[in-house]
Amino acid sequence: MRLRRHIPSLLPAYGRKVQINYRGQSIQCSKCLALGHIRRNCSSESNYWLGYVKTLLDTKNIPESYFGVWLEHLRSHETVAAEDSIFTPSQN
Ligand SMILES: [Zn+2]
Repeated sequence: MRLRRHIPSLLPAYGRKVQINYRGQSIQCSKCLALGHIRRNCSSESNYWLGYVKTLLDTKNIPESYFGVWLEHLRSHETVAAEDSIFTPSQN
């Protein structure tokens, strides 16, 4: 199989976190989700999975249907965050 573009090691697919590995793939940390190192060598704090999902959704041109329940989790999280910002007093 020929790839037209690289596939991230970690993908939100059909409501699960799926790990994909193939020869020649860029390494990705399963803890902080950054490229270039593996979990064993990670010194970062854990990343926020839904932020990663949103980045993939916004930048990778992956059909929304592939995200499964992750899309619902993301949308409900964004709704709660928006409602929290409405009721949070201004810092000015
Ligand atoms: Zn890391």
